[in-house]
Amino acid sequence: MAGIYIHIPFCKQKCTYCDFHFSTTFTAYREKMIEAIVEELKTRVNYLGKQTISTLYFGGGTPSLLTQEELKLIVETVHQNYRVEPEIEFTLEANPDDITIEQLLMWKAEGVNRLSIGLQSFLQEDLDWMNRAHSAEESVSAVKLAKEHGFSLTVDLIYGLPNRTNFDWEYNIEKLVALSPDHISAYCLTVEKRTALYKLIEKGDLPEVGEDDQSEQFEILVRKMKESGYQQYEISNFAKEEAYSQHNSNYWRGVNYLGIGPSAHSFDGESRRWNVSNNPQYIKGVEEKTNYFEEEILTPKDMFNELLLTGLRTKWGVNLELLSFKHCPSKQFYKQLDSFKEFELVNEEEGVLYLTEKGKLQADHIAAMLFLE
Ligand code: SF4
Repeated sequence: MAGIYIHIPFCKQKCTYCDFHFSTTFTAYREKMIEAIVEELKTRVNYLGKQTISTLYFGGGTPSLLTQEELKLIVETVHQNYRVEPEIEFTLEANPDDITIEQLLMWKAEGVNRLSIGLQSFLQEDLDWMNRAHSAEESVSAVKLAKEHGFSLTVDLIYGLPNRTNFDWEYNIEKLVALSPDHISAYCLTVEKRTALYKLIEKGDLPEVGEDDQSEQFEILVRKMKESGYQQYEISNFAKEEAYSQHNSNYWRGVNYLGIGPSAHSFDGESRRWNVSNNPQYIKGVEEKTNYFEEEILTPKDMFNELLLTGLRTKWGVNLELLSFKHCPSKQFYKQLDSFKEFELVNEEEGVLYLTEKGKLQADHIAAMLFLE
């Protein structure tokens, strides 16, 4: 069992907070990019060995900008070159302004069964400073339309926004819960240095966001999700009736995956590999069969730390025995673990470590303190 991730590095416009790899001026090389993605799929056919593909994920960028011909070509290449299970989870990230009846029918025809919709906020003022291409009204109709067409849905929101109160955040959650998607991902806004948002805050056009406000909004999120029947199965991910993201759950469990396209990451159980985050360099590298990626062999300590970080964030926790297979935990690890247990941040049940509700507020810090040096 393994997954394939395909990165589509095109966007209509640049969202102010976004630090992902994409380009808004791609018309001249669009066709070459699709050809390079197809070529990379063909040449890396042995990367996953004999494992079957159980999840396919189109992310970006904006994969909802793909035409039917482009999507079909990529999907057919996957089926022709890989052993794909009969019932796969096939997710495509879609922006609300791209969701129309015609597009939904087209995605369905090409095998997509799950849409990941980036709403971010239901407040128009937020969407304006974010420079999102959709309006608050379009968000609501897009989710309703996608549901009517039978797609499994995950919807993204962002909390900890400038100028937003806890009351505004509750409003956003309630609006989303009323639409009843199967799955919700909620991320805390991070202001990355090379973004337009960083400059807006630096110039004083938007206020800085306090960490205390963000922590309070996370607590509101966890409470309201629980009240609304969503299970927090990962720090930032909530599902109704176990509609977990199979693709992302596999990342967290350490399942192998192949990442195709510029900036895409791959993992084969022993090493990580990441493609260059530059569209022309990526196309040239694939065409000329020169190096367009970097690679890192993971040490047992790296594997230990990764399993700890990802496992602690999930409802499945981290099995201490499995962790010890990666690397023997140090005395310092057990000492730190005892201290976290004492402060009721971590629980241990039948050899599995879980974060408590209080611990979830500091998940990354707790994992970092337990890392092997
Ligand atoms: S649409 Fe998505 S990938 Fe593109 S700029 Fe906006 S947030 Fe980034």
